[in-house]
Amino acid sequence: MRTLFIVNPKSGMDIAAPLRRQLLDAVSADPSADAHVLTRAGEATSIAEAAVRQGYERIVVAAGDGTLNEVVNGIGDSDVQLGLVPLGTGNVLASELGLSPDSLQRSLDVLRAGKIRRIDLGQAGTTRFLLMAGFGFDAEVVQSVPTRAKGVFGKLAYAPNLVRESVRCRPSEFKLTLDGGKVLHTQAYNVVVCNCACYGPDFRLAPDVRTDDGLLDVLVFRKEPAMKLKFLVWLSQSLIKGTTEISGVECYQSSSVRVHASPVVKMQLDGDVRGESGIDIKVLPNALSLIVP
Ligand SMILES: [Mg+2]
Repeated sequence: MRTLFIVNPKSGMDIAAPLRRQLLDAVSADPSADAHVLTRAGEATSIAEAAVRQGYERIVVAAGDGTLNEVVNGIGDSDVQLGLVPLGTGNVLASELGLSPDSLQRSLDVLRAGKIRRIDLGQAGTTRFLLMAGFGFDAEVVQSVPTRAKGVFGKLAYAPNLVRESVRCRPSEFKLTLDGGKVLHTQAYNVVVCNCACYGPDFRLAPDVRTDDGLLDVLVFRKEPAMKLKFLVWLSQSLIKGTTEISGVECYQSSSVRVHASPVVKMQLDGDVRGESGIDIKVLPNALSLIVP
């Protein structure tokens, strides 16, 4: 299968650099594979579009969730297969799939075996997402972290920003319209529309979220006494111990949701701020062929 590896030389921690070199060596030894090393932010979407036009059957992203998001937006409705070598900082999708970022060999074995899973995508306005669209608190935290460290709350780098933003955070009056019908009015700090269960590496926001049920899970972190404190305790415990339960979070399933907030809040898609509230979100069922373990 003609495969293009899209490699982001800027993503990941120190461990990523030698793995990237090994990967590029492996690609150059494979006559059916090519590599494109990204040279600027935002380039991955147009590279993926071009790869589809050029007839590549597989695109493998050797980077983190931000580059994955760009590639998914470049693939569009084509049936190209998407593979993953997790070399980012957060690697949330890799965590969802059980792919460890420190084993290049395992990632290559998964690609070689070529098992495909069709998964849903989300779309906010015209931009697609793999993991989640977050409104309010989490988007503020993402925005406040200066590096392109991905994974939302996956790294301790976020900890000081988490605390600062949680002190600063004010609830918004959200109006959520589910499936074009049911309307919810609620005061909330954060609304997260999930396509995947994982929210950070080894950190499941909502264990019951399925990527292939044709539905999005809408989580509402309501304004209620001590919610900020509960949220921080829950985040710390989740980072240390994996999944824990949090009370006071409402969950709704729908195939579309219109998100309005007053005052307007920022929106993050897959860990990057990409807009604000006042937007329509929908599920794209079975929209992506993902190469999985
Ligand atoms: Mg789902």
